Amino acid sequence: MTKYIFVTGGVTSSLGKGIIAASLAKLLQSRGFSVTIQKFDPYINVDPGTLNPYEHGECYVTKDGAETDLDLGHYERFLNVPTTQANNVTTGRIYQTVIEKERKGDYLGKTVQVIPHITDEIKRRIKLLGEDDKFEIVITEIGGTVGDIESLPYTEAIRQLRWELGEENSIVLHLTLIPFLAAAKELKTKPTQHSVKELLSQGIQPDLLICRTEHHLPQQVKDKLALFCNVDKESVIEAIDAETIYDVPLLMLKEKLDLIALKKLNLPSRQEPQLSEWKTFLGKLKNPLGEVNIGLVGKYNELPDAYKSIYESFVHAGAINECEVHVTAIHSETLTADTVHQMLGPLDGILVAPGFGERGIEGKIVAIQYARETDLPFFGICLGMQCAVVEFAQNVLELKGAASSEVDPESPNPVIDMMDEQKEISKKGGTMRLGSYPCDLKQKSLAHTIYQTNQVDERHRHRYEFNNQFLKSFEDAGMLASGINPETGLVEMVEIPSHPWFLGVQFHPELRSTVEQPHPIFVSFVKACMKKHN
Ligand code: GLN
Repeated sequence: MTKYIFVTGGVTSSLGKGIIAASLAKLLQSRGFSVTIQKFDPYINVDPGTLNPYEHGECYVTKDGAETDLDLGHYERFLNVPTTQANNVTTGRIYQTVIEKERKGDYLGKTVQVIPHITDEIKRRIKLLGEDDKFEIVITEIGGTVGDIESLPYTEAIRQLRWELGEENSIVLHLTLIPFLAAAKELKTKPTQHSVKELLSQGIQPDLLICRTEHHLPQQVKDKLALFCNVDKESVIEAIDAETIYDVPLLMLKEKLDLIALKKLNLPSRQEPQLSEWKTFLGKLKNPLGEVNIGLVGKYNELPDAYKSIYESFVHAGAINECEVHVTAIHSETLTADTVHQMLGPLDGILVAPGFGERGIEGKIVAIQYARETDLPFFGICLGMQCAVVEFAQNVLELKGAASSEVDPESPNPVIDMMDEQKEISKKGGTMRLGSYPCDLKQKSLAHTIYQTNQVDERHRHRYEFNNQFLKSFEDAGMLASGINPETGLVEMVEIPSHPWFLGVQFHPELRSTVEQPHPIFVSFVKACMKKHN
């Protein structure tokens, strides 16, 4: 029978529930259990796809084309197992399902209410991942903070589910903050006591307390927490600030989080955690032999979470190359013909980021022209690849007014254009080209050298595409389409063979990079930057 672990948060948001959930999952996986993690987000958007990156950080796309919360990226990076649509559910999605059922008449004349109809739908979606014993352990993270009006239906669903599942089949892990008052030189437990009281008032007794703290928790603080919060002393776990998120599984191992959770779920510990690959990665990450400086040219730079997966991919690719990757965020709006030399001159390579809309496009094109003309390693992702195509059209092919029709709908030379099927669509939510698609690689290309195979699958999230009417002129002038979708003929990768390292990809490789499998394009790009550095 599948066992369930619920993760709630108290006191404040941003405590890192996603990292704690992913770390526990990693430990359980390393002991031989099949584990998955699911996240419930209590907002009304049906998915985060329509959210501005400033609101909610990056939108993570799963293999099956779901637009999801960025925590799913952590789950995949830690577990090295793909997630799906079922791993991220919002309040909007729950209500949408219930309302659709109501319209179909499925509730047979009954009044549709939060309890039981909304809570039933929440419970159904929690159990879905455990069904058919697909996973032995399902970890469900509830977004937000206990006490929020929005999260009430979720805590109520957990209360009911725990009762239905019976003892030893589920536990609740409550992540909380123990603030340190510098003036009093004291760690304070009161906020945690209050947040546990709040949970208790909703009928939930947490089994474990995970305490985020900047200072080690003395035993007497743990004892106090145990006493006031009705948990045993061994179940008060310290989560001290870590140097990198990748330290957290090992810190939790030291705290015996996995063993305590397994004991409460009445599961055997099975085997010693198999974490040698993880430790090798950490060893390399912390002892780099070289360094590179890479510019991340984008427009959502105020919020690093907007490019979460790109930053993490550089961590993975840096470690495997035993090289420290310093990523400097460069606001594309500050790049002009006058500033570009000074801003990009000191760098070993640039990555032009994904994005939407016309703001900041000019700066991206200026940056790409600079990289192309000075042999600076260039890596363009999605919009970044589209900008590379536009730059080439404007400055090499000298096509008048060449543009992406996203930026200039009237362009006489729309080298990046909307696909015909997209033109009919007026709804914004979930209507882009989403999820995994195959891509054939041209022999002897940089793409082929990187992947060492003839076909790959990569994830997409965009509306616009390379306009194949122009393909021949591009190839004649030295920009090669090295990755092609075998079913539609769409261009997925472009490169300039005469340049040391110039690659644009229509898909998002950053969504597939994990600790155990750093993405080969990032690995190769970092190598090219190392060469440039030396
Ligand atoms: N805005 C572009 C498109 O829709 C690129 C999207 C992206 O970078 N994810 O095609």
